[in-house]
Amino acid sequence: MEKYDLLIIGSGPAGLSAAIYAQRARLNTAVIEKEMMSGGQVLTTMDVDNYPGLMGIGGFELGMKFREHAEQLGAVFIEDEIKELKVEKTSGQESDWKHAVGEKGTYSARAVILASGATHRMLDVPGEERLRGKGVSYCATCDGAFFRNKVTAVIGGGDVALEDAVFLSRMCRKVYVIHRRNELRGAKILQETLFSQNNIEVVWDTVVEAIEGDAQVENVKLKSVITGQTQNLQVQGVFIAVGITPNSQAFKGLAAMEDGYIKAAEDCATSVPGIFAAGDVRTKSLRQVVTAAADGANAVASAERYLTRLGRSEHPRLDSGIDSGNNGRG
Ligand code: NAP
Repeated sequence: MEKYDLLIIGSGPAGLSAAIYAQRARLNTAVIEKEMMSGGQVLTTMDVDNYPGLMGIGGFELGMKFREHAEQLGAVFIEDEIKELKVEKTSGQESDWKHAVGEKGTYSARAVILASGATHRMLDVPGEERLRGKGVSYCATCDGAFFRNKVTAVIGGGDVALEDAVFLSRMCRKVYVIHRRNELRGAKILQETLFSQNNIEVVWDTVVEAIEGDAQVENVKLKSVITGQTQNLQVQGVFIAVGITPNSQAFKGLAAMEDGYIKAAEDCATSVPGIFAAGDVRTKSLRQVVTAAADGANAVASAERYLTRLGRSEHPRLDSGIDSGNNGRG
């Protein structure tokens, strides 16, 4: 069994930012990722226009920059999928050790940062599962190129739906945005871009009842939430962007949760001492790359304080750049 000061589960912006801070804190740390950049929704984001100093950078490029930075500082990455996190009990008492049980091994540490992110939510309508990969997609940047000169529909009205629609409008003949209300949720700047494209049409106050087609998507069945009237819209692709679900299943019954999100405030401390939650998997009001990166820093600062309190860190920090009167430097 491998033992560390700190385990970081997930390698999206929160996990990678935590890895950077943990390296600077000289904590013996491992980042466990399901697959390379497993927690990284940023990778499939077209442009990240709101990360300070890097205006217009592609999501993939930003994700790779985070990773390069962590790697350059010597972060250790382990590819494994964590199925369970256990807090060791010695004679009925909870000890300081936590064990992350993966498919390939078990990894132990006194402090753990859960940065497992979130994944897309399903629409849950007939035809969605059957036609997945046959016209139904959850990632416009991954699959958009298959729909050159075709007609597509994006479902949802949040940031992802608007970004997807704008991205698709560059290659599709026509893009419909199907939204269940008469007002979009996504950022105003994205709305302005969306409304300036003449091949995007928003279908307001409308929900999808079914996705239809034999071998491929041919049609979406729509229903107006105002009149109850149904209509068929012929499309070859359906991009579903109706929100995200936290990747917290492996931690159920361990730390307190709210709607599947792990409960933690800005210090990222969960209800279990020594376990911290960072990024999209944490209860928070704004899920952005910049807030995920901030969580990574806060979680390491909290983990370091926790380890210092235990007084047993095997790798005392040499130059953390965080906390302890060093604010503003690192
Ligand atoms: P979101 O903001 O939760 O938006 C989900 C959209 O889907 C909403 O418009 C919602 O409608 C609609 N919806 C939900 N369930 C539905 C259903 N069953 N049927 C039809 N429509 C449904 O999710 P998101 O766009 O995936 O974004 C996730 C998070 O990532 C957000 O916090 C977002 O701000 C963030 N994000 C940030 C960036 C960035 O920093 N550049 C980029 C992308 C995403 P209502 O509006 O009626 O609720």
